[in-house]
Amino acid sequence: MSTYDIIIVGGGTGGAPAAFHAAELGLKTLVIDRLPMEQIAVKVCGDATSKYYWDFIKEATGTSLKPPHGEEIEIKIKGTYLYSPGRKMKYTIIDRDGEPWIIDRFKYGKRVLKQALDNGVDFIDNMRVTSPIVENDRVVGVKAKAKNGETKEFRGKVIIDASGINAIIRTALDPSKTHMDIQLLPKDECNAYREIRDFDPDQFHYDDPEFLRIFFDQKIVPGGYLWEFPRGETSVNVGLGVTKIGNYPNTRKQFEYYLKLNEEMYKNSKVIHKGGWRIPLRRPMDSLVWNGVMLIGDAGTCVKPTDGGGIGQSHISGVLAVHYAAQAIEKDDVSAAGLWPYARHYMITSGAKNGPLAIMKDFVITLDNQVLTDLMEKQILTENDFLALNSDATFNMSIMEKAKRVFRARHMLSFLRDLKKVVDKMEKARQLYLNYPEQPGKEFLQWKAQIEALFRPEHPLLLTPPKQNR
Ligand SMILES: Cc1cc2nc3c(=O)[nH]c(=O)nc-3n(C[C@H](O)[C@H](O)[C@H](O)COP(=O)(O)OP(=O)(O)OC[C@H]3O[C@@H](n4cnc5c(N)ncnc54)[C@H](O)[C@@H]3O)c2cc1C
Repeated sequence: MSTYDIIIVGGGTGGAPAAFHAAELGLKTLVIDRLPMEQIAVKVCGDATSKYYWDFIKEATGTSLKPPHGEEIEIKIKGTYLYSPGRKMKYTIIDRDGEPWIIDRFKYGKRVLKQALDNGVDFIDNMRVTSPIVENDRVVGVKAKAKNGETKEFRGKVIIDASGINAIIRTALDPSKTHMDIQLLPKDECNAYREIRDFDPDQFHYDDPEFLRIFFDQKIVPGGYLWEFPRGETSVNVGLGVTKIGNYPNTRKQFEYYLKLNEEMYKNSKVIHKGGWRIPLRRPMDSLVWNGVMLIGDAGTCVKPTDGGGIGQSHISGVLAVHYAAQAIEKDDVSAAGLWPYARHYMITSGAKNGPLAIMKDFVITLDNQVLTDLMEKQILTENDFLALNSDATFNMSIMEKAKRVFRARHMLSFLRDLKKVVDKMEKARQLYLNYPEQPGKEFLQWKAQIEALFRPEHPLLLTPPKQNR
């Protein structure tokens, strides 16, 4: 049986670019996916991302991976309209985060995987990885099962878990050794449902399809939001995500409710694709590596927790992981210590943004419609504040405290106090991520204890066991 340098479990948004980079570095690589080849990259998704992420990985690793272009981009985005509950107030947010796009995930994902295979990567489809093979405290391969029930084993120096939110490798390892969580807390998971619909042009069209639409309404989407991402004047990617807190509702049912509220708009529209899936909404796993194994994308909870954006994060984590795996293989040290530079690079860059944003997310999902309405309609938080709070995870509370809007928010003093506490916590988290330990061991365990204390949920809604309300 041949031993691969790298085995990538999952050829999705993170696995495909990781395979591409492994091929360009000349590593003997195998990608295994449970789906048939023609269905890979067909995933329910909002498909919104931005060029920023491709610029980041090029700069960090020198990869020649081309960003989406031509027909792989459905529309170039100019900004986002953010609507208050009941849609009385609309903010227009112009994103600074690179060039935002809606992409055709399928066309793009297929191209990247094909380039990897053309450059020598082996690929097995219709093959479900069932568990890691662990020997002497090190992951040395994977067990897998084909559609016909045949079981197989594959061996590799580094196994990359790119299997998405189910994280088939991570969840089978001993967390007391890996320091990776097995289960996500309910508050850190979101159920999402989305449809792609073409409108009847006589019935409805967007005048400005270059703007994404985000709607907050705790009655329709508790702890989450609803999105309309136009794919042109007469087509939309529309969906909603609901966090698993309180008596959280069934997403499909909520979507039907939304359709009913917008009956005229969707009259005679055609459903092109539909489906639901889950999104992790939390800080990255505290450790992204262990002996012989690396986590990327949703498997490592590498996402932007405030909006579930994981296309860019899975690219960053996937390509960075391979970049450092190649160095570890070269040095013949694929232990946790040998693979650690990947975790550190991810944490001091993306972690320093996404970690703090997870604290903001925990706060926002507990706000009720009245607070959300007041924040926007009384202009207590401005468009720039929303942008700052959702982008680089730095927010200057003192500017806000001096501003007139505090006067407008005088009936919301407890909200302001809570926001101040949240912003302070975000800054502490940012500092911790910027000082992510240089190696595993004692220093890392101290770091992890500090992070866990900082992220311990306090709000009763986040602590009470949730119950799905059908
Ligand atoms: C409804 C919805 C809307 C979203 N909208 C956006 C958005 O607008 N913008 C954005 O940036 N992100 C969005 N996301 C998040 C984004 O889709 C994910 O973060 C991203 O796809 C994660 O990539 P990944 O490679 O980690 O996982 P995936 O893309 O899920 O890929 C995992 C791959 O692993 C394979 N696999 C799984 N288990 C096994 C196994 N046991 N054996 C072999 N193969 C296996 C799967 O078949 C799949 O190909 C959305 C997600 C959802 C659900």
